[in-house]
Amino acid sequence: MTDLSTFNHEKSKASRLTNFARENGIKYFMVSFTDLMGAQRAKVVPAQAIADMERDGAGFAGFATWLDLTPAHPDMLAVPDPSAAVQLPWKKEVAWVPARCIMNDEDLSQAPRNVLSRLVAQAADLGLDVKTGVEPEFFLLTPEGQALFDGKDCSVKPCYDQQVVLRCFDMMAELTDYMLEMGWEPYQCDHEDANGQYEMNWKFDSAMKTADKHSFFKFMLRAISEKYGMRATFMPKPIMGMTGNGCHAHISVWDIASGKNAFADDSKELRLSDSGRHFLGGIMKHASALAAICNPTVNSYKRINAPRTSSGATWAPNSVTWTGNNRTHMVRVPGPGRFELRLPDGAVNPYLLQAVIIAAGLSGLKSKADPGKRWDIDMYAEGHIVKDAPKLPLNLLDAIRVFDADSELKEAMGTEFSNAYIKLKTKEWDTYSAHLSQWERDNTLDI
Ligand code: ADP
Ligand code: MG
Ligand code: MG
Ligand code: MG
Ligand code: MG
Repeated sequence: MTDLSTFNHEKSKASRLTNFARENGIKYFMVSFTDLMGAQRAKVVPAQAIADMERDGAGFAGFATWLDLTPAHPDMLAVPDPSAAVQLPWKKEVAWVPARCIMNDEDLSQAPRNVLSRLVAQAADLGLDVKTGVEPEFFLLTPEGQALFDGKDCSVKPCYDQQVVLRCFDMMAELTDYMLEMGWEPYQCDHEDANGQYEMNWKFDSAMKTADKHSFFKFMLRAISEKYGMRATFMPKPIMGMTGNGCHAHISVWDIASGKNAFADDSKELRLSDSGRHFLGGIMKHASALAAICNPTVNSYKRINAPRTSSGATWAPNSVTWTGNNRTHMVRVPGPGRFELRLPDGAVNPYLLQAVIIAAGLSGLKSKADPGKRWDIDMYAEGHIVKDAPKLPLNLLDAIRVFDADSELKEAMGTEFSNAYIKLKTKEWDTYSAHLSQWERDNTLDI
């Protein structure tokens, strides 16, 4: 056991995080930021040293992470945001605190949490609070990641399997207890549509809070899974032929002054207000470019546009279409005053996901964009009758190119960010292309 009594609270300087440490018995802070590829990076800082870090930031060599920086750049300073500090429920002497990245006394514009901060502020300038809920799906594998953790989970239609879900009950319950403790209002977990696949849900919140919770959830799930000898993965398509890991986002926009949901209007089609339609119009207009953010890896494109899975459906979109309460389209309006974007996958960067939703949505609000025709068909069976809907990009390179061609979206996300992102993702594509696969050998060796 760690001895908390060794922390001399009296001697440490006064600051919000020092108070937080004193009130909660925190000995260490993890000052954390998320890079362009979605990796979370942290420095572990004793509470005695946090006051200085809170003022000046923790130093990082940005080039050593996935940011568009060189080894010659000056230190990047990660300044912790005290309002977002979370005590680790499973390691109470430690707190995680996401940070604002600064270089040369200015916000580093390409840092994903900074991108989102800027867009949240733009929405607030319009009197709007974008609120979202995310649904991270994940597989539980053996520690080496080569097989399902539960080897007996092999039925053809495993979704909601009551027997199987009980086999990881202790892990799920521990995680849910933590979410209850943190006040996230979790409300369900279930076995999803692929063998070994699960989902846990908690209540929606303002975009930055959801992004921080989404990041923390990934961190917490991985840590707790390891304790149980499991390896959790959010990889979009870890097993060919089975349903992949989505990360749907449910979206509504609230009027800050009145505290009302601006997307709710019972007199309108599907009870979605005009502003809801316009916001959705922006998402539809920029959807193909959105894929570069929502589906950020080579592997992402094996989830969208996929052939039918062994369970009967992919549950992932292939075209830019929307509908009512029907899960075969890219956007579903499941109930009044919100819509669900089903495009994002498990590899999505939590901050960039929220940022790109706001960027596309606000552009739609400003231009009063029309989401186009609503298709109330089974898109998997009857999709061929939809002639004019764009097909989603077929691979990462396609998506990067579409994003690069969407100057409005690039500008809304910030030019410095967009250029950095395109550069790193193009490099990722290049390394993938330089890799010789078994498929090529199998199909080309004897030609
Ligand atoms: P499903 O699997 O049917 O798509 P889930 O219950 O798994 O839905 O997830 C729904 C998500 O949507 C949750 O995070 C929930 O809090 C969120 N949500 C519900 N209402 C709203 C709303 N008005 N605005 C934004 N998100 C919402
Ligand atoms: Mg060093
Ligand atoms: Mg769900
Ligand atoms: Mg799901
Ligand atoms: Mg969903």
